[in-house]
Amino acid sequence: MEVRVDRLVSNHYALIIAAAKDLYPPNLHRFIGCDFLTGTDPIFAGLHDHVDASYGRTLRNTAHCAYEMHQMIRPKSQRRVTVVLPVPETVDTVVHELAHVMHQAIGWMRTTTDVSWYAETNRYESFAEAVSSWLVPGYAPRRDVELEKALLAL
Ligand SMILES: [Zn+2]
Repeated sequence: MEVRVDRLVSNHYALIIAAAKDLYPPNLHRFIGCDFLTGTDPIFAGLHDHVDASYGRTLRNTAHCAYEMHQMIRPKSQRRVTVVLPVPETVDTVVHELAHVMHQAIGWMRTTTDVSWYAETNRYESFAEAVSSWLVPGYAPRRDVELEKALLAL
């Protein structure tokens, strides 16, 4: 009988997460602590039961931030803010998802400028896009300098 172990765990996720965190100024590191679920479908894994993402996408294979309020199928004691990366992503995408983590941690600060078309989706995406545009050169066509100043002052 052949015994196989096909656990193809990649260190890709650890590397891009570390690189994304490094782009955050030190004063903001205390706001981006979270769990990560990588390389799998979060619904299959039992994290949450939300399937539909914006623009016709599915959360089964789309990077996203799952807050505790999205994890009602889990016992309350096991709910943690979780960045979900079902498939390998770029550093830019992880910076964006960590911005969602930070947004809740700092009390849902508002933006003044929608820096990209995706920022116009809602105020949560506006915040994540503004942070990404600040930390990742060339990420978006505009910046929200007022938001950047406010975040540096935290
Ligand atoms: Zn987002």
